Amino acid sequence: MSELRFAAKGPVFQPSDPGFAAEIAAFNLATIHSPDLVFGALDASDVVAAVQWAAARQLPVAVQSTGHGATNPIEGGLLISTRRMLELSVDPIEQTARVGAGVTWKAVAKVAALHGLMGLSGSTFDVGVIGYTLGGGLPVLGRKYGFASDHVVSMDFVTADGNLHVVDAESDPELFALLRGGKGNLGIVTALEFRLFPDHRLYAGGIYYPGESAGDVLEAFAAWAPGLPEDASASLALMRLPDAETVPEPVRGKFLAHLRYAHQGDIVQAARLLEPMRACAPIMMDSAGLLPYQRFETIHQDPEQPVPVRESGFLLSGLDAGAVAAILEHLGPGVDSPVLMGEIRLMGGALRGVPGTDCVGGRDAAFSFFMVGIATPDTLEPLQQAFSGVRAALEPSVTGRTFVNLHGHSTDAADRARAWDEATYRRLAAAKAALDPLNTFRFGHVVEAAALPAVV
Ligand SMILES: Cc1cc2nc3c(=O)[nH]c(=O)nc-3n(C[C@H](O)[C@H](O)[C@H](O)COP(=O)(O)OP(=O)(O)OC[C@H]3O[C@@H](n4cnc5c(N)ncnc54)[C@H](O)[C@@H]3O)c2cc1C
Repeated sequence: MSELRFAAKGPVFQPSDPGFAAEIAAFNLATIHSPDLVFGALDASDVVAAVQWAAARQLPVAVQSTGHGATNPIEGGLLISTRRMLELSVDPIEQTARVGAGVTWKAVAKVAALHGLMGLSGSTFDVGVIGYTLGGGLPVLGRKYGFASDHVVSMDFVTADGNLHVVDAESDPELFALLRGGKGNLGIVTALEFRLFPDHRLYAGGIYYPGESAGDVLEAFAAWAPGLPEDASASLALMRLPDAETVPEPVRGKFLAHLRYAHQGDIVQAARLLEPMRACAPIMMDSAGLLPYQRFETIHQDPEQPVPVRESGFLLSGLDAGAVAAILEHLGPGVDSPVLMGEIRLMGGALRGVPGTDCVGGRDAAFSFFMVGIATPDTLEPLQQAFSGVRAALEPSVTGRTFVNLHGHSTDAADRARAWDEATYRRLAAAKAALDPLNTFRFGHVVEAAALPAVV
């Protein structure tokens, strides 16, 4: 450990050190990491030094920035915390940004806005740009622009041998493809350069309906969403809000349906497209209207404070009457379920992209389905059973694949393999075997050369 302190600039914490708990803490409070050591890297040379130090001792290495993706605990080894790696620059002429491994979408949104630009963030600005993009990055405006990883220009990344590489489409097309959607399997990305887009006017927001109308709203959504143009994105969440003080009084402990809508294009058309969903049921609250990109996060209203959760996600080929009935039977009004939220997100449009040019799975899915529940020792078992019940009921519409960023807790390698099609998994596993033969990066959504993808 003293060699690491000597070779690198950032702080090193052992479990007995006062700063250790704060350094390893994840946004998901249900996931408690227990590495042997955590190192707070300041820059790429620190990451190089730490990986070389670990390689010399054959220690496994994990990486964390915000901990929003902490679905499974990190046990043993060296955890490299990147939250101090805050390099951020925007090139307004090229309309690109370059970020370090600790930068979140919040920081990018602030700086990009100074130049009338925006990035392809997801539902919250609080996740790390790099962790999100390595998993494909499903933006709220994805139907118009595609996945965030479609717009990566280059990456600086450190392989398991401790070498720093700069990879782009010209220097190594195969590696560049595998890094985009491969979810941190091949190394630690220390910096990412990606394209930004003009911050054109948005018509966006949320509509809340009372829980008893959830059936009408879901039926209307299933009929309405697939016909939306690419300028428009939408998702519907069925939510059992906890009876907790952090939830505002009028909706505390209530069951609600929450439509999230974002449209970037003609404002009049944006409002007109939303009419069927404004007419399908009584509305409790409607915030859809002109929205500055800075307030983009208000569309989904994701939690801002850390919460103990377990998540589960998969992809759907469609949302027919059978799927609507199955969702209502398991997550509808009056059902006693530990699932706090079931979200159906419309895919399609530019998200289809050009399959095979990168590693992003699920491009052909019609919808993403994602569930989350509060995870405590008492709720974990019933929650897991509820997830399985919903998944089984939706079986006829399930593609068998998952989107890696929204896969949730994984059980084993075969489960994790569902995030890619078989050919992509084999390419990823071959690259993993070549670049990381000792499986140094063995935490997170990791591929294993021996695990064949199982569609279950
Ligand atoms: C409230 C909420 C909303 C979300 N909304 C969306 C959404 O709309 N669209 C979407 O696509 N995803 C969404 N996600 C998922 C999120 O994008 C992933 O969990 C992502 O991994 C978070 O990245 P992070 O770096 O913040 O998390 P971390 O937990 O710090 O990292 C997660 C994993 O990312 C990898 N990783 C992180 N940094 C690096 C690095 N520098 N080099 C190599 N690998 C790295 C590692 O495998 C790590 O285990 C959401 C998650 C939450 C909790």
